[in-house]
Amino acid sequence: MDLNVFQCTDCQLTLFPERYICPHCGGTHWRLVDAGVGIIEQLTRVVAGTEKAGGEPVVLATVHFEAGAFVIAQLGEAMAQGERVRLQEVGGGKVIALRA
Ligand SMILES: [Zn+2]
Repeated sequence: MDLNVFQCTDCQLTLFPERYICPHCGGTHWRLVDAGVGIIEQLTRVVAGTEKAGGEPVVLATVHFEAGAFVIAQLGEAMAQGERVRLQEVGGGKVIALRA
């Protein structure tokens, strides 16, 4: 399932995860919108204690969406900065980035 992000119904600011109060306008009403396709802005290799089975380090991507939200996701496959991705929630609050 594609990831949904949260859009403030008052000022349209888009965030993930949801906040109680909009940091831009102070609004408290949100609508769910499909995150769609985002661009990998930054990659972070996590070394300590997070190795997947097989000893590969986990790589986290900061993904920027057109709607404005930034989401941190684990890479589902090897990718580079600037690539277009879609995000999927895989349960337990974990978000995976896959090539779009
Ligand atoms: Zn707002």
